[in-house]
Amino acid sequence: MNFKGKTVVITGGAAGIGWATANLFAVRGARVALLDLNGDLAQHRAGELGADHLGLAVDVTDERAVISTLNEIGPVDILVNNAGLGDVNTPTVDQTLAHVRRLLDIHLVGSFLMSREVARGMIDSGHGGAIVNLASIAALTGLPRRNAYGAAKAGLVAMTKSMAAEWGRQGIRVNAVAPGYVATDLVRGLIRDGLLAKDKILRRTPLGRMIDPSEIGEAIAFLASDAASAITGTVLSVDAGWMAYGAAED
Ligand code: NAD
Repeated sequence: MNFKGKTVVITGGAAGIGWATANLFAVRGARVALLDLNGDLAQHRAGELGADHLGLAVDVTDERAVISTLNEIGPVDILVNNAGLGDVNTPTVDQTLAHVRRLLDIHLVGSFLMSREVARGMIDSGHGGAIVNLASIAALTGLPRRNAYGAAKAGLVAMTKSMAAEWGRQGIRVNAVAPGYVATDLVRGLIRDGLLAKDKILRRTPLGRMIDPSEIGEAIAFLASDAASAITGTVLSVDAGWMAYGAAED
């Protein structure tokens, strides 16, 4: 895969899956822009990638910030909507409206705003491009107490398909990756706080291990690359077998 001459924007690019993905694109020749709530870390990490790369502070739910940041970056070839938050495993009956709105806002509204702005440029330039959204196994199956997170990610899957259907003629491909449990700070934090049980996850996962962030990055890079030139509107599970496992016990 060669991304020479391509500009890639990765939201939530300063950490976890976003950062691993940024490394893969940069090594393969792309100019990468890391957009993150944590602007200092994004800037530091862009510096680690090299002089061509950018790290910028932006909250993807802030329409004005999204528009002005994308103006600063210029034409975008590939967008990765990755910024996200873990759900805190609160029983549904105890969840606040603010909590539910925040999860919907970051994963769904933020991805809409970024996609709308980037697609305007892709359509105006006539060059098209590729968008990859970070869904989750929570979009595809029921996980207790993850109602808001799952709804946001399922909404993102629906949005992926709608945008793919609408923008195909303009040469814009839109796909999603649905990770299982990936060893990032998001998941490590939930395990440390007792909100996820690592031993149960490993027992329930056919490959018997957590996923490395770079394994999600490889799937994202594939979907964004010319190797996937006829693929649009799909959801690729990268879940170490989680969705295939249907046994009550083994
Ligand atoms: P992470 O917490 O390691 O990194 C997320 C990054 O997003 C952070 O740098 C954070 O500052 C940034 N961010 C959060 N809110 C933002 C906002 N409003 N605007 C801009 N940046 C923001 O998370 P991760 O595990 O790498 O997850 C990345 C994506 O993958 C998320 O969308 C998550 O839902 C999804 N996902 C993760 C897993 C997993 O197991 N880790 C599984 C399925 C899906």
